[in-house]
Amino acid sequence: MKEFVFNPEQIGNVEDPSAIVLKKAKRSDIKIVKRFIDARYKDNIKIIYRVEEDSKDDSESLALPFKGKTFIKDRPVIVGFGPAGMYAGLVLASYGLDPVIIEKGRKVEDRTIDVATYKKDATLDPSSNIQFGEGGAGTFSDGKLYTGVSSGLKAYIGEKMVKYGASEEILYDSHPHVGTDKLVSVVRGIREEIISLGGEVHFEEEFIGFEQDREGRVCAVNTDKATYNTRNVILAVGNSSRKVFRSLKDVLGLTSKPFSVGVRIEHLREDIDKSMYGFDTALYKNICAANYKLAVDTNTGLKLYTFCMCPGGEVVPSASVKDTIVTNGMSYSRRDGDNSNAALLIPYDPSRYSDDPLYGMEYQDDLERKAFEVTGRSGLAPCVTYGELCKNTRNASSVKPTYLPGTASCNMLEIFTGEQVDTLVDGIRLMGRKIRGFDSESAVLTAPETRSSSPVRIPRDKETYESIFVKGIYPSGEGAGYAGGIMSSAIDGIKCANRVAQSMLN
Ligand SMILES: Cc1cc2nc3c(=O)[nH]c(=O)nc-3n(C[C@H](O)[C@H](O)[C@H](O)COP(=O)(O)OP(=O)(O)OC[C@H]3O[C@@H](n4cnc5c(N)ncnc54)[C@H](O)[C@@H]3O)c2cc1C
Repeated sequence: MKEFVFNPEQIGNVEDPSAIVLKKAKRSDIKIVKRFIDARYKDNIKIIYRVEEDSKDDSESLALPFKGKTFIKDRPVIVGFGPAGMYAGLVLASYGLDPVIIEKGRKVEDRTIDVATYKKDATLDPSSNIQFGEGGAGTFSDGKLYTGVSSGLKAYIGEKMVKYGASEEILYDSHPHVGTDKLVSVVRGIREEIISLGGEVHFEEEFIGFEQDREGRVCAVNTDKATYNTRNVILAVGNSSRKVFRSLKDVLGLTSKPFSVGVRIEHLREDIDKSMYGFDTALYKNICAANYKLAVDTNTGLKLYTFCMCPGGEVVPSASVKDTIVTNGMSYSRRDGDNSNAALLIPYDPSRYSDDPLYGMEYQDDLERKAFEVTGRSGLAPCVTYGELCKNTRNASSVKPTYLPGTASCNMLEIFTGEQVDTLVDGIRLMGRKIRGFDSESAVLTAPETRSSSPVRIPRDKETYESIFVKGIYPSGEGAGYAGGIMSSAIDGIKCANRVAQSMLN
């Protein structure tokens, strides 16, 4: 492994940075395995590339072999076509097991229109929005792929994304991200590959429940349109599928799980860039807007941390229930928008307040409804500047909130508790010690961020990944409580698919 170090002037605006690296290495039989920015010293920012000898033993060897067609009696069913369901579908289709995929939302092409309509005039389609529809919650996102989960499957997942339109840089960047503009074609490409291998994807069809045989094993799946006989079901419905959580609460023995709530904070991208790197990244086409990750212990005793940072991104309307407001963040592949945003989250443990496994989910719903009421049921998101939050007085801001269809000024105490608001006030102040200007009075806070992770867990066996209550049901991905983010959900989907394949092919 060798490292090549560049300064921003050397690599920031060249046409093909990887060609410059190979030239410096004076070899063509090597590949870039890592790229990262060393920003410890603002007067000496370094862009570092690690290279190693190109090996043929790469991710393709992880791709599962296509086993050839055999007659499949009860085809496996996958519920949900987010990252977990998509990659589970790819793997089962690669095994020749012809999965049937049920997705309540619309195809990504149609969904894009529904999301645009919601941004334009606050008309929400509860089945097709930023949470629901082909590609799942990750489709209109920043497409960050970094995760704390370590798995050899990451390369397989990344390679597929590159095949269908993501930049090759995601395979070696230390903070890979795809961007909304490219995710749409990635999602379409994966769907087409599944279908070409014999799988089926049924859009605008909603999973209602399942049937069990005398031994208690799943034997059929019911949707609002059909019944599918099956003995294996991967349940990958994501963290917003409240109807499913309510209906399966008892039969699958759901438990509550801690999660977090808070707001999205926005600053000018240029200000964050300058604080982190000492320059505006707009000067260099090959240097991405600066990224941060912060966590502080506040004077209320509660933690405040940043999550899902979207450099050069936008805050997006992410509700899936009518008469509610939910925020989240996205960015395009170039991450060159005017603002940089991140979720600012406070941990919340529902088991402290109730034994009801769905208490946390109802709490999320309650915050989202309050937010809708606070702005006069207009569909605008509640918003304050940090200056206003601290002093309760209005102040003008140089940061224009990016949330569409728009924001309206509000009193955050009408949504959050005093303790939560105090946590934001003190936490942002402390974060200002780590990133200059983070606690600027102009920083804009838009609320509420409630869907950062699932409020429930669907218990499953550690080895077989099957529900401990119903054989043949494989709870998977973020909604089931086994993943947090695109990459880890995709990994979990593949693991479930491998277990289904083992049980069907043995
Ligand atoms: C705006 C936004 C930005 C994000 N940015 C990032 C990011 O940059 N990086 C990152 O790692 N994570 C990000 N996330 C989180 C990430 O998207 C999720 O962790 C991931 O999508 C979870 O994958 P999943 O397959 O488990 O569930 P989901 O992606 O939620 O997919 C579940 C699917 O199931 C379908 N479904 C639900 N109920 C039913 C039913 N009854 N019948 C049929 N289908 C059903 C839904 O329509 C949905 O398509 C973001 C999320 C949002 C909302």
